[in-house]
Amino acid sequence: MLNLDEPRRQDDQGPPAYEDRGASAGDDAARAWLTLQTLPKLPLMMTRGGIGRCPVCGEGRLYAGYLRVVERCASCSAPLGAVRADDAPPYFTIFITAHLIIALVVVTGQRTSLPVWSMIAFFLPLTVVIAMLLLRPVKGATVGVMLKLGLIGEHREGTG
Ligand SMILES: [Zn+2]
Repeated sequence: MLNLDEPRRQDDQGPPAYEDRGASAGDDAARAWLTLQTLPKLPLMMTRGGIGRCPVCGEGRLYAGYLRVVERCASCSAPLGAVRADDAPPYFTIFITAHLIIALVVVTGQRTSLPVWSMIAFFLPLTVVIAMLLLRPVKGATVGVMLKLGLIGEHREGTG
């Protein structure tokens, strides 16, 4: 039975008040791994990532699912999961897709006299399809760039 009069032990104080989320042990291990490697050149890392392979060795798979990056490369154990691309791949994907679609809409509008509803019915689904197809290779290339630049873990303000 619990004795409420007994003073609390030192380790019953609960979680520490301050937790540095930016410098988790996993991220530090990933940085340490990266400093020991001779990485390939940037275009090769981007290409490997773009085709869904590990940017470091080109052997292991980059994805476990549509966009979920594996924690570690099965071939060279590169810490791929420590790279957090966040909003960058969707941003680049929207940028590329918009320029493609806008060019196609302008050219189609100039050369044909299609009604607006048919243009919308064609280009709206096409926009979604192109974005879905581009997102994976763009994210892979982004992971390649971030690994090359050593951008691992959470972003930390004011520190290296
Ligand atoms: Zn690898």
